[in-house]
Amino acid sequence: MVLQRSVENKRVNIESGWLEGVRRIPSPNVNERPPGSVVDLLVVHNISLPPGEFGSAYVEQLFTNCLDCTLHPWFERLRGLTVSAHLLIDRLGRMTQFVPFHLRAWHAGASCFEGRENCNDFSIGIELEGADDIPYTSAQYAGLARVSLALMREYPAISVRRIVGHADIAPGRKSDPGAAFDWDLYRAVLAKIARSVAHRTAGGAQ
Ligand SMILES: [Zn+2]
Repeated sequence: MVLQRSVENKRVNIESGWLEGVRRIPSPNVNERPPGSVVDLLVVHNISLPPGEFGSAYVEQLFTNCLDCTLHPWFERLRGLTVSAHLLIDRLGRMTQFVPFHLRAWHAGASCFEGRENCNDFSIGIELEGADDIPYTSAQYAGLARVSLALMREYPAISVRRIVGHADIAPGRKSDPGAAFDWDLYRAVLAKIARSVAHRTAGGAQ
């Protein structure tokens, strides 16, 4: 996979829980994490509204409780739902942040990781605009990898093996990010960008 040099070299920084230079739409669907929580899990999701259709503002409207559920028959099932994620990465790799990372977003629902339930308490949720069976874009892999590295710097308890899919923590109930998400490719992009950052840091560049 060939990454655009400009993408590869763009380091992502986190300031007070927000990604620098990223569009922010604060969600009301947020609360404090339980006292003493250590953020040690990153959960990858997909979402598109209606499923399989991309490019609308419906997801950000859902995450801010502003979605008009009369606009599409499928939206009826979303009525009254209060959900959010920390970050959405669209098909072009553009990002929107809804919840600062130190706070608790409402993305996982009933969930369990290594015997611990309520994964929202200790995880960060990233949504890729997508569907289980539609290949993700290279811009999404690159964007997700760059943000993953920034989060692993900020929250050292998040290791590569603690980056999972929603389906992994809610099996049988959730299927995202689905078979279309190429975990090997994601990890390869992650390793490539990590090497690039390390090389530049060793060379004295910031
Ligand atoms: Zn999900």
